[in-house]
Amino acid sequence: MARKKHIDGPAPVAEAREVAPVERGGEKAWQAALRPRTFDEYIGQRDLIDNLRISVRAAREHGWPLDHFLFAGPPGLGKTTLAHVIAEELGVNLHVTSGPAIDHKGMLASLLTSLGERDALFIDEIHRLAPVVEENLYPAMEDFKFDLFIGDGPHAKAVTMQLPRFTLLGATTRMGLLSAPLLDRFGFHWQLRYYEQADMTAIVKRSAAITGIHIDEAGAHEIARRSRGTPRIANRLLRRVRDFAAVERDGRIDVDIAASALDRLAVDHAGLDALDRAYLSVICERFDGGPVGVEAVAASLSEERG
Ligand code: ADP
Repeated sequence: MARKKHIDGPAPVAEAREVAPVERGGEKAWQAALRPRTFDEYIGQRDLIDNLRISVRAAREHGWPLDHFLFAGPPGLGKTTLAHVIAEELGVNLHVTSGPAIDHKGMLASLLTSLGERDALFIDEIHRLAPVVEENLYPAMEDFKFDLFIGDGPHAKAVTMQLPRFTLLGATTRMGLLSAPLLDRFGFHWQLRYYEQADMTAIVKRSAAITGIHIDEAGAHEIARRSRGTPRIANRLLRRVRDFAAVERDGRIDVDIAASALDRLAVDHAGLDALDRAYLSVICERFDGGPVGVEAVAASLSEERG
């Protein structure tokens, strides 16, 4: 896919209009438009990407189905993006759902029977699957089989359906909540890490190039360092800073406008917002550095425990 590059070129006033559909779609469409589509476009997490390249290549070249993979890590690090990249690199369809969305066995059955041979099924928040759904997923993952009961009471008949050889791609923010039997059925699981500064800067520059935002190296670095090693936060802050640059400057982002916009958005040099700072200062000052229980912190902040 051809991408526009404006890292060092003139401010792209006319081209900014070209990306209007992205602008109209809100935050979700903005993030989706910035999603890398191939391994080459996926920045950082090199060791994981190197492993995945091998598995995907073996599957493609030998016609093997890809094993089931699980990705764990905090929100915004690129787990959903990885599922899209893997499907793209495998040349198969990706079906996307989430743990809480599959609320009964029948829904899982219809999801699995709608898959094509070698398709990938992505289940986000997989730790939130209902137990009965999870139990029925085991034979599907292991033997590509699904047991259904047709009819009620004494006349009910057990039918075993043969499923296509699909690949399950799971994502979780809470690896510790995954049951051992489910974890065992993944051929590979990996904990994604927060991104390093250089990778974050590259992500900001890439996102700016795609959306026609002119940004210099120091401006990209400033947004990157306040994004807590998380690409989704970087993309969000880039969009906010872009607004300040467009209104108060000629649209170009440099370190000055990036720093002043982020200060005014109350995102400090460590990427902490006002609530984060209040939380830390309560622990530090009121509770002398802790330890302190979550209820006491919540009460001091006048916030919900969650
Ligand atoms: P998660 O599923 O872990 O919550 P996503 O895959 O939705 O995170 O990623 C959030 C956004 O961050 C994506 O829309 C994408 O634009 C960006 N992103 C994530 N990982 C990368 C990466 N490695 N390189 C470039 N951009 C990334």
